[in-house]
Amino acid sequence: MKTIGLIGGMSWESTRHYYRILNETVRERLGGLHSAKVALVSVDFGEIEPMLSAGDWDGLAEALAGAGRRVEAAGAEMLLICTNTMHRLAPQVSAAISIPLLHIADATASAVKGEGIGRVGLLGTRPTMVEEFYRGRLEEQGLEVVLPEGDDLDLVHRVIFEELCLGTVRDASRNEYVRIIENMRERGAQGVILGCTEIGMLVGAQDVSLPCFDTTEIHALAAVNAALDGETGS
Ligand code: GLU
Repeated sequence: MKTIGLIGGMSWESTRHYYRILNETVRERLGGLHSAKVALVSVDFGEIEPMLSAGDWDGLAEALAGAGRRVEAAGAEMLLICTNTMHRLAPQVSAAISIPLLHIADATASAVKGEGIGRVGLLGTRPTMVEEFYRGRLEEQGLEVVLPEGDDLDLVHRVIFEELCLGTVRDASRNEYVRIIENMRERGAQGVILGCTEIGMLVGAQDVSLPCFDTTEIHALAAVNAALDGETGS
């Protein structure tokens, strides 16, 4: 079994789910007392988020490249950045390390296409939804992406930072997310990508009438496959 490297803490509310899913899946696969081999560097999101709000991508790149190097030095044989948004810096982080980076959007695109879905809704932070690095990467892999419209885009972003990253899960916000997902379905989405690692805390398949692709779960499962079977995906 290979050692899985994680850059976490963005936020830790989702990193703990990565840790749980990795360990539960390894136990299911190997049985008994087996658990995942993990090297985690967890950042202080209180230092990271202001750089994100200010659009200081150079500062963030430096912070994440440093974290990636520390994960590798701790013995990791692959790296996961445990947030969709920070994949904007995947090229800079990859360049700083010599182990493979398992890209969250690639694992997600494979999962969506594996269900025979071609047109998919995307929820996440504003950069994840509107910038090229994420949506474009899904499109390159043949997916057509549907986004929330108008003020709904801001609502989705705001709930992530003002509630979910603080561990707050509100019924009112779940209802809004369900409304937005159903609206994307009416516009042709055959499934929805929960493209922020905290969204699975709020909504899931039980709440909506189309398949949900939880990026936290998909990314963590891809890591276990890579650790046990050597499949590093695309
Ligand atoms: N965890 C979130 C994501 O998957 C958002 C927090 C962040 O900006 O990293 O995008």
